[in-house]
Formats: sequence, C-alpha cells, structure tokens
Amino acid sequence: MRNVFNFSAGPAMVAEEVLLQAQVEMLDWHGTGMSIMEVSHRGSEFKQVVEQAEADLRELMGIPKNYQVLFLAGGATAQFAMVPLNLLAVNNQADYIDTGIWSKKAIAEAKRFGDVHVAAKVDESGSLIRIPAQTVWSLREDAAYVHYTPNETIGGVEFHWVPQTGDVPLVADMSSNILSRPIDVSQYGIIYAGAQKNLGQAGITLVIVRDDLIKEPLAGTPTLYQYLVQAENKSFYNTPPTYSWYIVGLTLAWLKREGGVEAFAERNQRKAQKLYHAIDNSDGFYTNPVDPECRSRMNVPFNLKTDQLTAVFLEEAKKAGLTNLKGHKLAGGVRASIYNPMPEEGVDALVSFMKEFAGRS
Ligand SMILES: *Cc1c(COP(=O)(O)O)cnc(C)c1O
Repeated sequence: MRNVFNFSAGPAMVAEEVLLQAQVEMLDWHGTGMSIMEVSHRGSEFKQVVEQAEADLRELMGIPKNYQVLFLAGGATAQFAMVPLNLLAVNNQADYIDTGIWSKKAIAEAKRFGDVHVAAKVDESGSLIRIPAQTVWSLREDAAYVHYTPNETIGGVEFHWVPQTGDVPLVADMSSNILSRPIDVSQYGIIYAGAQKNLGQAGITLVIVRDDLIKEPLAGTPTLYQYLVQAENKSFYNTPPTYSWYIVGLTLAWLKREGGVEAFAERNQRKAQKLYHAIDNSDGFYTNPVDPECRSRMNVPFNLKTDQLTAVFLEEAKKAGLTNLKGHKLAGGVRASIYNPMPEEGVDALVSFMKEFAGRS
C-alpha cells in the first residue's frame, strides 16, 4: 500500500495492481525480453495488447457490434474538433448542452466548423447549480448531432439520466465518468473519453463510434482527424501511444477482475454518498454548490468559509496523506476526485480528516 491517497482530477490515481503489474513487466513483457513500449505497434506482441483491450472494453460496456472502438491520441480536446469535422458534412448544424467548463470548450471548438446552437445551459440563477430538465431544452430536429458532457469534472455536475434525442445521434464526452456505472451504449452515437481520469494513463483517448457515423468528413479535415481513416486503419494510421494503450488495457483487465462496472457503480455510489453526507452534516462548515439531483459521483467540489481556511485545510490534508485536493484554478475551493481506482478507504480517510478539521477550526 502506498501511504498517500491522491484525489487529483487528472491525470489521476491508477490502481496499485496496475502499477505493480506494469513494474513487473517493464523489462520483460511476457518473456520477450523487451518492454512493451519498445516493440513495434504493428508486431504480434502489441497486437495481443490491442485485441485484449478491445475485447475487455466491449465486455465491460456491452458494446454492440455496430460500434467501432478507436484508441486515438490528442486527448478529449482533439475530439472537440473531430466530432464536428466528421459529423457536420451532412447538415452543418449541431446542438450542444452547456453544463460547465468542458462543455464550453467543446462548444467553442465546434463553432469553428459549423452552426452551433446551445440548446440548454446549466442553471446558476438559484442557490444551487442545476441541469435544466429536457422539457425546456430547445433541440433542433434536423441537427447532425447533440453533444453533452455527462460529468463536468470541474463543476462537479453530473447527469443521472440520458438525454433522449430520437433520431439525432447523441454524442457524449465521458472523460471523467466512463466505466463508473453501467450504461446502454446503444443510446449513443459517439462516446469519447480521455484515459487519464478513469482509464489509466494520459496520452490516449477512447472513441466508441456507431458505424453509420463513420463517413466522409468536412472538406479539408486532416487525415489523422478522420474517423473513416482511423477506423479503416484500426487506429494504426500512424504510431499510436502504445504504452498508454497498454496501461488502459491493464486497467480494463483490473476492472473485470474487481467485478466489472456494476461492482464499481455500487462502490462509487457509496464513496460519493459518504463525502456528500460529511459536507451536508457539517453545519455549513463545508458547502457544495450543486443541486443533489445532479451532484457528481466522480468529482466532489466543496468550499470552506474563507480562502485562508481553505489554504490551511489543503496544507494539513496533504500532511495527512490526502493530496491534490485543490479545486480547479477556475473554480477555487476544494475538489475530491474519486474515480474507480480511489479505494473506499481513501474516502473514509478524507471524511475523518474533514470532521476532525471542522471540529477544531
Ligand atoms: C479532462 C477533460 C477533458 C480534456 O481532456 P484532455 O485529455 O486534456 O484533452 C475534456 N472533457 C472532460 C469532461 C474532461 O474531464
């Protein structure tokens, strides 16, 4: 056991078993006498890694056959561009739901390529931040797609329901909550997620895309940004980030051994409940700004009364082995990111510390 619980939002904690396995295999991957990072991405060794990772992912998420799984570089941010570049050729209109900072970045990028309409925006007018019900959204029936961010990593705002968009493909940036609970992939046109939050190491991005959305992109789209090219080449058009891919593979295998997505969903629910309970029962010493209906199970932001008190809290938490709790620079305050690899003991330790700190401050 390491003696620190790392609450970083991303790159985030990686399961200890995964790190240990990577360590054991570092100098000699499966008797080859080489590290997996030293072999050709087109060779038989790496092919095993790739095939196993895809099979495990398909099993964990129940991905239907008519979806391709791509492993691409460029982070979720590259998908902010790839989605419009590849989907807007048919009809140049896209609808976006704005629930926070990551949504806004996706919107700003899409605006460079087409007619982007913000069909709904997070409601910050009341005392608590909330996601407006779909009944008040202004979706366009002929939009090429609807994009949303199921979990806003910075604001700690999460959808606990799936938007219903009929025949319009639903595109989801699941960077910070992929594999945190079961979902029905068939409800989505595209799901994408950078790996460094819930899947392993930075450098690789998972894209799950329905076959019919893999088509001619907008004119001038760079080759590497075309789903068509990436799918035809099985994400091997150029050299992919092989070591990140390998770490994602180890993480997927670990998720399976630990009971799969259902088991993690229960654990994640319990972890989040413990933290929110500690916040809500602190007599206002700690506050969370989000409506309980749309609080995130992955990123729990909270505030203390003054910046000075926050600074002391962060300093002492760090001394107690609870690291990287500082809120995002745009949000301030404290944020505990508690993705799949964060054990329940880490949350218990944080809750104890919060109680103890509030008691003496
Ligand atoms: C972290 C994050 C991103 C950006 O990911 P990069 O890999 O840095 O491009 C995008 N969307 C969400 C929801 C995120 O949490």
